[in-house]
Amino acid sequence: MPSRMTTLSRAKGIAVILPPAPERVPPARKHLSADALYALLRLGFGKVSDPRGRKCPISLTDALMSALAMFSLKDPSLLMFDGRRDDENMRNLFGIACVPSDTRMREILDLVEPRQLRPSFNDVFRQLQRGKALEPFVFYQGCYLLSLDGTGYFSSSSIHCDSCLEKVNKQTGEITYQHQMLAAVMMHPDHREVIPLAPEPIQRQDGSEKNDCERNAAKRLLRQVRQEHPHLKLIVVEDGLASNAPHIRELLDLDMHFILGAKPGDHPFLFDQVLAAWDADGVTTMEWQEGKVSCEIDFINDVPLNEANPDVRVNWLQYAEYGPDGQERRWTWVTDLEISRKNARWLVRGGRCRWKIENETFNTLKNQGYHFEHNYGHGENNLSVVFAMLMMLAFLVDQVQQLCCPLFRAAWKRMGSKRALWESLRSHFRHFVFRSMRHLYQVMFYHADKKLPAPVVNTG
Ligand SMILES: [Zn+2]
Repeated sequence: MPSRMTTLSRAKGIAVILPPAPERVPPARKHLSADALYALLRLGFGKVSDPRGRKCPISLTDALMSALAMFSLKDPSLLMFDGRRDDENMRNLFGIACVPSDTRMREILDLVEPRQLRPSFNDVFRQLQRGKALEPFVFYQGCYLLSLDGTGYFSSSSIHCDSCLEKVNKQTGEITYQHQMLAAVMMHPDHREVIPLAPEPIQRQDGSEKNDCERNAAKRLLRQVRQEHPHLKLIVVEDGLASNAPHIRELLDLDMHFILGAKPGDHPFLFDQVLAAWDADGVTTMEWQEGKVSCEIDFINDVPLNEANPDVRVNWLQYAEYGPDGQERRWTWVTDLEISRKNARWLVRGGRCRWKIENETFNTLKNQGYHFEHNYGHGENNLSVVFAMLMMLAFLVDQVQQLCCPLFRAAWKRMGSKRALWESLRSHFRHFVFRSMRHLYQVMFYHADKKLPAPVVNTG
């Protein structure tokens, strides 16, 4: 009998003794829990058209969910995932009726059109909107920061598919096959979490120059974002490659604000204009001290971007730090947001938090247990891209948990690192039967609490 002070919740395989309700770490709100989101994604996968066009023993939904489960569990290889085929938890936590073998999974997913996975990102995004979880992400005048950046996740001189980028070594003629994607994440300077939208693959048909590819991918991605979220107020943050007139026109056409990096070497005319204005006292300067570092912001509104496009006028913003040993660091942006003494420091924070896409997104995917650069299988058509999109989707669900689920955060804190958290998750998953992700998080968290009475464990 549970005592008055504890509630015993028992599932087949493992029971966890929870503290009384007021002392319990709360789970995520219902629609934003991992359980709700996996169920939602499963429903969305059901709408992806099956390229096999006939009834097959393993449904496309099961194949997609299985890959998602593999990335959610951070299995380091498909072979390791293969060991989960008879695991009851696959049904209980991910709703998978039949887990495909590694070979079958590759065969099925290779045929899936990656674009068909875009709606799944929107499904999760709508839950965040509905749960008002995005409100803390509002950056300025009701707008969210959306940072764009490309990254490579596959490179080989032998393995390749139809959508690989091909780089030819000019000296040796050797071909390197690559996959890259352009990620778009919503972020905020005060929050560590990022909310990825559907990434855009940078594919071979885009041409052979990387920059061209990334620029084209940005155009496709932003158009799709506007189509899918017609009323979303956005400030797009990109690096110096984006601060060109055609792209700025495109952003304004899409009704998106922007903060774009701008290097003096790329914009001699603009910087000459700024210097001329400086001489005429037309540039506003703000200076302050942060410890031993001297900080300075300079800005001017309404200057032409370049000589060839005098109609494209931008506001120029510069931030510099001068260290005690004479080190100097400097960042410059162009923006359509009017800069004032009141908002300049905040806009600088917006421009500078672009590093989050590198640090909190790519770095997490590559080094915090997701194995972004591991080749789970390349396929002949779309497999590599489909896997990358599903991994991003698993990352999105994890970020939502990090943002909205106190129980997840408590378990993470107790484990000490993301890697330790995933390890504990996999180990629990392997040894016990759970009825939900929530149940699994509870067991991970409360079993680690030495102050609680020893849990009742029945591995049978
Ligand atoms: Zn390829």
